[in-house]
Amino acid sequence: MTATLFVNASQVVTCSGPPRARRGVELLDAGILTAAAVAVEGGRIVAVAGAAELRRRFPGAEEVDCAHGVLTPGLVDSHTHAIFGKSRHEEQEMRAMGLDYMDIARRGGGIHASVRDLRDRSEDDLVALALPRLRRLAQYGATTVEVKSGYGLTVDDELKSLRAIQRLSLLLPLRLVPTFLGAHEIPQEARAYPAGRADYLSLIVKEMIPRVVEGGLARFADVFCGPGVLTIDESRAVLTAAREAGLRLKLHADELRPSGGAELAAALGATSADHLAAISDNGIRALAASQTVATLLPGTMLFLGKDRQAPARALIDGGAAVALATDFNPGTSPTPNFPLILTLAVSQLHLSVSEALLAATVNGAAALDLAHETGQIAAGFSADLALFDIEDLRELPYWYGDRRCRATWVRGVPCAA
Ligand SMILES: [Zn+2]
Repeated sequence: MTATLFVNASQVVTCSGPPRARRGVELLDAGILTAAAVAVEGGRIVAVAGAAELRRRFPGAEEVDCAHGVLTPGLVDSHTHAIFGKSRHEEQEMRAMGLDYMDIARRGGGIHASVRDLRDRSEDDLVALALPRLRRLAQYGATTVEVKSGYGLTVDDELKSLRAIQRLSLLLPLRLVPTFLGAHEIPQEARAYPAGRADYLSLIVKEMIPRVVEGGLARFADVFCGPGVLTIDESRAVLTAAREAGLRLKLHADELRPSGGAELAAALGATSADHLAAISDNGIRALAASQTVATLLPGTMLFLGKDRQAPARALIDGGAAVALATDFNPGTSPTPNFPLILTLAVSQLHLSVSEALLAATVNGAAALDLAHETGQIAAGFSADLALFDIEDLRELPYWYGDRRCRATWVRGVPCAA
């Protein structure tokens, strides 16, 4: 087996440390090395040391010249809705003109527009549409991407979405993590009659979850817990059934109004609670005392034109494990640009650069139960790497909106150039 040495980086930012979510002062040191090289063998990182030492230890190794760029762990995007059909670009302007989501829904937009559109498409079509989108995420530095279903909202259309994710993971070197989100919304046809809600939730529990598990189509189940979508009790019922069936749990929680979603996530032992722009003080305390990762999605609040962001400082200072993700989706966050999320983390959430990077690597991995596998440049971890055209890590959030990612590798295999 031939080793590959990554040499000549101006900085290797290792994020190395315990294979679990980092909290508090653990987030202050991203592990910046200025004279280090990285040895990769068989898809795994085998050593981090000076180039001369690694050349002695691995004679005949191939070399990747990092050309004075910054080498980081590949970014871990732990929250996306990358399986969808058409874009919804027209809604952005409607919002700017003062229309709210109800107005937009009446004009044929909103999540139900994505649902109608996805139902009309074949699995092949969904795969073809998602391929360039996922490549785009990789081109900005992501090497692990969680992808949710949730625009189907029927048994067949949810399974179709998850099968598309399964096929995409064979077509791309990216590590994809599938999540079943049949509880993204109550479909319109179920809202049209009184017992529709309960019938749809029962369909999720009795048919969708068993078939998702039987087909090995998802690692996580997620629900959208919030006013107008699922109540706390409904969320608990769906997630409890999912957990009993062997799925791990995620929640969309407390996005625009505090509804006890974070507290529910902690009580159920969910792997992550996501959004949290309106989390209560009680919710912050509940997450801080739990293993549940608080995943923040600042791009969504920016794109929706909201004048608030999740209380990231209070979460971190209170002891919660914070991760960052793009929330890549057609309605509320159509960006593949993860470094832009780091910009928002620093400029709007008041994180340090080191906190932001660890939230996008180690803690993103923890939000997918993968902190033992990816998210750090350390011996034994998967060789998931991103190389940026900058000389100092602090330039990563600084050149905002600019694509500085030159290349990514997943399990040592080049992913995007
Ligand atoms: Zn989401």
